[in-house]
Parts: sequence; structure tokens; C-alpha cells
Amino acid sequence: MEIISGQPRRRALVVGLGISGITAALQLRRIGWEPVIVEKAPRRRSGGYFVGLFGAGKAAADRLGLLDGLHDRTPAATHLDLDRSGSRGAALSFRDLPGLPWLMVRGDVEQAAFEKLPHDVEIFYSTVPTEIEQDADGVDVTLVNIKDQSVTTERFELVVGADGLRSTVRSLVFGPHSAYLRRLNHMIAAFEVPGTLGDLGRGQGGTLLEPGRSMWVFAFSDHNPTVLLSYASGDVDAEFLEPPAQRIRRVFGPEPLGRTLAAAVTALETADDLLFDSVEQVRMDQWHRGRVVLVGDAAWCVCLYAGMGVSAGLSGADMLGMMLERHPDDMKRAFCEWERKLRPYIDYYQRIGIEQRQFFTPDSHRRIAVRRAMARLNAGTAGRVLHYVNARTKATRMKEVDIAGT
Ligand SMILES: Cc1cc2nc3c(=O)[nH]c(=O)nc-3n(C[C@H](O)[C@H](O)[C@H](O)COP(=O)(O)OP(=O)(O)OC[C@H]3O[C@@H](n4cnc5c(N)ncnc54)[C@H](O)[C@@H]3O)c2cc1C
Repeated sequence: MEIISGQPRRRALVVGLGISGITAALQLRRIGWEPVIVEKAPRRRSGGYFVGLFGAGKAAADRLGLLDGLHDRTPAATHLDLDRSGSRGAALSFRDLPGLPWLMVRGDVEQAAFEKLPHDVEIFYSTVPTEIEQDADGVDVTLVNIKDQSVTTERFELVVGADGLRSTVRSLVFGPHSAYLRRLNHMIAAFEVPGTLGDLGRGQGGTLLEPGRSMWVFAFSDHNPTVLLSYASGDVDAEFLEPPAQRIRRVFGPEPLGRTLAAAVTALETADDLLFDSVEQVRMDQWHRGRVVLVGDAAWCVCLYAGMGVSAGLSGADMLGMMLERHPDDMKRAFCEWERKLRPYIDYYQRIGIEQRQFFTPDSHRRIAVRRAMARLNAGTAGRVLHYVNARTKATRMKEVDIAGT
């Protein structure tokens, strides 16, 4: 155990090297703990899909000291409404959602946070927890290296589960996934595309909407575009019975797909880092049990349609550190106050996660027609009025608020 100014640092295990895990470790270190991180993957990931960072996330990133390492990659070109025949019109983009998010990729936030992590924080890759046993004074965690199968058991004062939607920490300590995961009956495929795509020029994004299925091309000012294919599914288990590329061709068929959708489907087949998954939320009444606490998607996954997972992860980790610092000898109180303050925001983000399914993938021709009418309004002078109204909605307030600072 490391000794700092005569005081031994308290050891905490952080499981997961995503945005929530890195920033939780950063905060623990700042308040005098010794975080040790374990990550299932063999190395730190980079790149990743498109994310929007709203005010809540920017405020937390600022306090965590990583805002300087981030920048808005919003492109100058307008977002287009596409169809298979190649016609184009004005479209509502992610930026037209309430709030004024910065656009970037997930890896931007992970990289900015990782750069702030002190070099002597230990990180063990290819390592997962397999048993977690706690008593009043500490937590014994059995860790397995999945490469060489070596096993160790170590004792910590605190365990932070930041291991994402299908969290192992959650299943070991709180119970099976089935008790907490709520399917939204939608599937997604997300991946980066080198260069440009189909009819779209450099820095040009677009959306192709059809009832129950959609393609979003997120363009950036200074980064390759990323694609999101999203569709409704009546049988999520069956979605995984064939390879993703084959499934996507079936769902978005029949041919012809049109130039841009065809290019996206072809790019998916050779994508380095394809995410193909069902869209789910995590619903839990309590995010802590004894000395184990969950943060980020592991605790509350709000899902991509909310556009608030990164902001919530940053805010959650930021405030967790603040509460542990405020109540150093009363972990239970720290966790309870943290949850009490954070939960109203998470509940709200989960609600918009469900509502905004229709923004990403409208389910009917009628909704698509309304959406096109709104896009036309938005492109004209009425757009300024819409933005003025949007800026004053509850949704904007909840997304832009500095949660820990309230
Ligand atoms: C397509 C898409 C678009 C999105 N768009 C947005 C957006 O616009 N705005 C926004 O705010 N959010 C968005 N999100 C959500 C956001 O990306 C997530 O909420 C956020 O990245 C979650 O971070 P996390 O660190 O909590 O979890 P994760 O990113 O899932 O990280 C978990 C980490 O734990 C590791 N791990 C898993 N299991 C184990 C184990 N057993 N042992 C050790 N390590 C383990 C994983 O390898 C990973 O490194 C989007 C998500 C998707 C899928």
C-alpha cells in the first residue's frame, strides 16, 4: 500500500476503462485514493461512434480538467434528408435537439480523460472480476487474466463497477442482467467510415428515414464520418442468429438501396470496429450495495437515443468523487447523497431515451412527413423561432445543467 504524507492511500478497484471508469479513477485519485483499474479488452480502445456532449457533460468535463482536451467537431455543411432515389432536402440533425451539444466521437472523451490520469495509476488489461465478496471492512475481489488464466484475489476498500451495459460487477453483486435490462426493441449498427460516403461530400451528413428503419451519417469538420443504422425489431434474440452484415442487408432490403445506403452497408462489411447490438436501458432502484457502487452505463444506461450517456457518465463520476471527499468516513452517506442528487436527471434522460427513439427511427410515414415539414420550417426564418423556443424547454435545461454544481 502506498503511503502519502504519513497516510496510507485507500485502495479502490475500478472495473472498466471507458469514460465512466477513467473519470471515476481520476476523481478517486484527486481525493487521495489509490485506484487500480481492470479492463477486459487487451488494450485501450480508440475512435468509436458519434457522441454529442451537452452542457451537463461539458460542466463535469471542465471540473475534471479535461475540457481543454476536447473540441467541437460540428461540420459547417447542413445535414441532408436523403432517400434511395438520390433526392435530397433539408433535415433535422442531432444539433437540432434541445441543447447545444458539441459533436465528437466517443474516443475523443476517453482520450482526453486518459491523458489526465496520473501515469502511476495501475491498469491491468485482459482482466475481469469473477467473484466479489464484501464484509464490513472491505471487499475481496477475485480477478482473472483472460489471456493466461492466472487468478489473484485482492482486497479493496471500494469497488466501482464502470463496466458498461452488461456489467459483470452488477451481475456478481446485484443480480442477473434480466433483473435490470429493459429492451427498447430496437437494434443498432454503428461504425466509422474512411473518407466520404455515397452521394455525400466531405463534411456532409445526412439521414435516410423509412418507417421503422433509418440511416444516420454523422459528418465532422475534422474526422471521418460515422454511420448509425437503427431499426425496430419484434424479436431481439433472433437478430443475433446471423452475421450483422447479412442481417443488415435483409433488414434494409430489398435492393436497390441507393448510392449512400449501399455504400454504408458495404462499408459495414469491412468496418474495423463495428458495434451491432440491441438498444437497452438499465433500470435499478439503487446503484450501490455496501462498498460496491456502479457508475455510467453499468448503473443507468440511458441508451443512445437520449444522447446523454457520456454527459451522465462524466457527471456521475465527477459527483461521486465530490461526495466521497465530503464524507470520507461514511461511504453509505456519500453514496446515498450522490444518488439522491443524480437520480432526477438520470430518470429524465431515460425518459427522453425512450421518446427520442422516434427522432432517430420514426415508425410511420406520417411521422416522417411531420419531420420533413419541421425540417423545412427549421431551414427558414421560423427556424430561429424554433431554436428560441427549444432553448427554453425543460429538455434543454436538464441537458445543459451543471448537475454537481446545482
Ligand atoms: C451508437 C451510440 C451512440 C451514442 N451516442 C451518444 C451521444 O450522442 N451522446 C452521449 O452522451 N452518449 C451517447 N452514447 C452513449 C455513450 O457512448 C455511453 O453512455 C458511454 O460511452 C458509456 O460509458 P461507460 O464508461 O459507462 O461504459 P462503456 O463505454 O461501455 O465502457 C465500459 C468499459 O468496461 C469494459 N468492461 C466490460 N466488461 C468488463 C469486465 N467484465 N471486466 C473489465 N472490464 C469490462 C469495456 O471493455 C469498456 O472498456 C451512444 C452510444 C452508442 C452505442
